[in-house]
Amino acid sequence: MKKELSRLKKKLSLKIDEYSARLIEISEFIHNNPEICFKEFKSSQALIKELQKNDFIVEKNAAGLKTAFTAVARGKEGGPAIAFLAEYDALPEIGHACGHNIIGAASLGAGIAIKSIIKDLKGIVYVVGTPAEEGGGGKIKMLGKGVFKEIDISLMMHPFNKTYTFLPSLAVKPIEFIFHGKAAHAAISPEEGLNALDAVVQTYNSINALRLQLPGDVRIHGIITDGGLAPNIISARAAVKYAVRTKNQNYLDELLDKVKDCARGAALATGTTLEINQSWAGYDSIKNNLPIENAIKNNFKLLSIKETPPSMESGGMGSLDMGNISQIMPAVHPFLAITDEFGVHTDQFREAAISTRGHEMMLKAAKMLAYTAVDLFMDKKLFERAKQDFKNNPGFDM
Ligand SMILES: [Zn+2]
Repeated sequence: MKKELSRLKKKLSLKIDEYSARLIEISEFIHNNPEICFKEFKSSQALIKELQKNDFIVEKNAAGLKTAFTAVARGKEGGPAIAFLAEYDALPEIGHACGHNIIGAASLGAGIAIKSIIKDLKGIVYVVGTPAEEGGGGKIKMLGKGVFKEIDISLMMHPFNKTYTFLPSLAVKPIEFIFHGKAAHAAISPEEGLNALDAVVQTYNSINALRLQLPGDVRIHGIITDGGLAPNIISARAAVKYAVRTKNQNYLDELLDKVKDCARGAALATGTTLEINQSWAGYDSIKNNLPIENAIKNNFKLLSIKETPPSMESGGMGSLDMGNISQIMPAVHPFLAITDEFGVHTDQFREAAISTRGHEMMLKAAKMLAYTAVDLFMDKKLFERAKQDFKNNPGFDM
């Protein structure tokens, strides 16, 4: 099997080399047309067109989302269904400072490469267009509507300033506290008022104090979204929005209760009433999958991709909607360095996402994803180990 695998990987590599100019063009097109959260019309269209040209069967408006899609190509009966997830949303104001153009192009390249050999494989390949990673949780909506029902394993990559097969991500839940008080003239009859802004300020200060008694991985950060109408009116309404994050998915509800208690206490102290808005579900933390990560490590070597050595510094962590996918099926989200210095969500990172190094890494990433998929298609034991690892791994408390 080893010989056959290396023969197939050579084919995949050649296919991506042949296609490289077009993949770079598409990555640049997405980068030059930054579209935010659920408005990625041009970007999703560019990917769909390319997939159709390569004879994928495309379903637009997946899960009823206008910028989501699935593209599928079937091989011989009986193998796994493996998906490459494409992201392509930008950030408000600063464009593709998270480099999702690279994610879209790399998953497209991997899909096209696997498609070119799918007739010889047992299984199904998907490219799934997942919009709105930056805040909208496109993948979660798609999971909810059953888009991933047939898929066994999901693969994607993310550009970064370091290279890792796995990095933990934080579970996050947004929460909004809205306080309702009573308006009164702030000078003539303040005693008739109930001050909602005071409740917000007390909540903010209580959470600041709470932070000292929480585990180190917890992040609670917020902004005041409503402070009242005018200085001479006691605020009848005031609101504060928070994102609450922790590495430990199982701890999230307990943590949220502590945060809510801060707001409840503030409502009691000020005589205001508290409304809690949790209309957005948030992201789960990511569950790793060692067998697939080991396959990726091996493919890193084949492609001369150097992993960043482990360090004692625990770097900051974000949150990903790939976390939710990883709680449902084996999934990976490796990071590949396109710059050594600049972090994501900066102007410099945006420039790195269309630099020569960015393009080169996008092409290597496409190969890495395609190689890993062919490992899973060809090596039944690896596929079984990936499924077993998913079952055995509680994934929450890392
Ligand atoms: Zn991102």
